[in-house]
Amino acid sequence: MIIKNLTCIECPMGCQIQASIENEKCVDVKGNGCPRGKIYAESEVVCPMRIVTSTVKTDNGKMLPVKTSMPIKKAEIFEVMEKINQIKAKTPVRIGDVLKENIADGVNLIATSNIN
Ligand code: SF4
Repeated sequence: MIIKNLTCIECPMGCQIQASIENEKCVDVKGNGCPRGKIYAESEVVCPMRIVTSTVKTDNGKMLPVKTSMPIKKAEIFEVMEKINQIKAKTPVRIGDVLKENIADGVNLIATSNIN
């Protein structure tokens, strides 16, 4: 059995979690202050996921803050960042506008700010 130490990122408490791993599965979780920590640890051990935040260029020279609409696999972040760097948004843009559909596994890239 392997013990993996994790810091839960689901809330500002940052609980220190010990996940017990056997046969590539999480078989026990300790140190979590609430049930969300157990779910986080189980996911982190099997397939870490993250929401990606970044910026893209716009046609008026301003930078537009963006994020993925849902978490993506941590292993795919580099590939997604390369796609984000190729995007040039056409203004005006409103919060929630989809800038790129299906940037990863059915996840869209959306604007998180308004730009005229
Ligand atoms: S385990 Fe619960 S209380 Fe602890 S950091 Fe995660 S979400 Fe917050």
